[in-house]
Amino acid sequence: MGTVAAHELRKSFGEVQALDGVTLDVPDGSFFVVLGPSGAGKTTTLRALAGLEKLDGGTVHLDGRDATRDTPAARDLAMVFQSYALYPRRTAYENIASPLRARRASSGEIKEAVDQVSALLHIERLLQRRPAQMSGGEQQRVALARALVRRPRAFLMDEPLTNLDLKLRVEMRTELTRIHRTLGGTFVYVTNDQVEALSMADQVAVLREGKVQQVGTPTEVYERPANQWVAGFVGSPRISLLACHAEGDQLVGEQGWTLPRPRWTNAQDGRPLLLGLRAEDLSVEKRSDASLSGELYGLEPLGDRTVVDVKVGTEMLKVKARPAVTGTPGERMSVAVDLDRAHLFDADTGLTLS
Ligand code: ATP
Repeated sequence: MGTVAAHELRKSFGEVQALDGVTLDVPDGSFFVVLGPSGAGKTTTLRALAGLEKLDGGTVHLDGRDATRDTPAARDLAMVFQSYALYPRRTAYENIASPLRARRASSGEIKEAVDQVSALLHIERLLQRRPAQMSGGEQQRVALARALVRRPRAFLMDEPLTNLDLKLRVEMRTELTRIHRTLGGTFVYVTNDQVEALSMADQVAVLREGKVQQVGTPTEVYERPANQWVAGFVGSPRISLLACHAEGDQLVGEQGWTLPRPRWTNAQDGRPLLLGLRAEDLSVEKRSDASLSGELYGLEPLGDRTVVDVKVGTEMLKVKARPAVTGTPGERMSVAVDLDRAHLFDADTGLTLS
C-alpha cells in the first residue's frame, strides 16, 4: 500500500500564505505530479507530506492512517531533491547502500539490492566511483538509486531533473516512467515544467498561490482546463485568448470580429467572455466558415512545425502550421478556427464555461 492524502493543508511564512487549503489524494501506485509556477507552494506541499514542515492546519494520511503528527522517519517516505546530496567521500555503491546499512541489513542483502537497482538505472559501471568522478546526470541516477533501494511507502521527488541538461532531462523522464512501471510504488513528483508533467503523470494537480486549481489526467487538464489560468499555464505555445461576448447565434469579438456561436455553449448573451484557442485548433492553411482575419506578425520555425503569430486587432493568435509556411509581416491572413475544440471562460471569474 502507498496512498498519500493531504487534506486542507495550511501554512504561512509571515505574510506569505504558502499553502491555502491544499487537498490531494494520491492513489496507491500512481505517478502523481504537482505542477505549478515558482512560488506556488509545491516544495512546501512535499515537505508537509514528508513531515518536515510544521503546519498551521490540515492533515496528512498515509495508507488511510492519520500521520499528521508522525516524525519524518516514521512516515517511511523517500525524498529526492534537485541537489543530489551524495556523501562525497563514499563510492556510488556505498552511497546507495547507506539506507540499508542504517537498517542493519546483511551484506548479502545489501549487495543483492544494490545490484538490482543499479541494473535498473544502468549505473553498474559507476559503482566504484566517488561523486566527484561522475557527471551531474550520473550523480542524479545514484541519488535516485539510493532512494529506490529503500522500498519506502512512497517517493517524494522535488524537481529532481532540474539540474540536468535538456537532452539528459528528456532521457531521464522516460527512464523514470519506466522505473515507475517496473518497480511499482507511489511517486509524488513536483515540477514547474508542464511538458515534464504532461509526459510523465498519471494524474496532475495544478497549484497556484497555495491553492489547487485542478486535479486530473494530463489529457483532462489540457483539454478541459478548469479555468483560464490553467489553460494558460498548460500547453505550449500558450493558448490564445480573445475578449468577446455572445449575441444570439454569434460570438462578437471586442476587436470587431464575429464567429458562429459554438454549438456547445449556453453562455449568456452580453456577458464578458474570453475565447481560448490552442495553436493546433487554428490553421492558416485550411479554409473554414469559422475564421478570423488578421495580419501576419511573425513566424517562429521550430523544425517540425512553425508557429505563426497573427495579430487580430491588438490581440495575438498563435497558430500551428507546417514547417514550410511562409509570409511577409503585415500581410492579411485568414485563420480557420475549430470551434468544437475552442474554450470559453467567464472574463470576470476566469472559470471555464460549457
Ligand atoms: P519553486 O518552484 O520556486 O521551488 P515552489 O512552488 O516550490 O516554488 P515553495 O518553495 O513551496 O514554492 O514556496 C511557496 C511560498 O512560500 C513562496 O512565496 C516562498 O517564498 C515562501 N516560502 C517557502 N519557504 C519559506 C521559508 N522557509 N521562509 C519564508 N518563506 C518561505
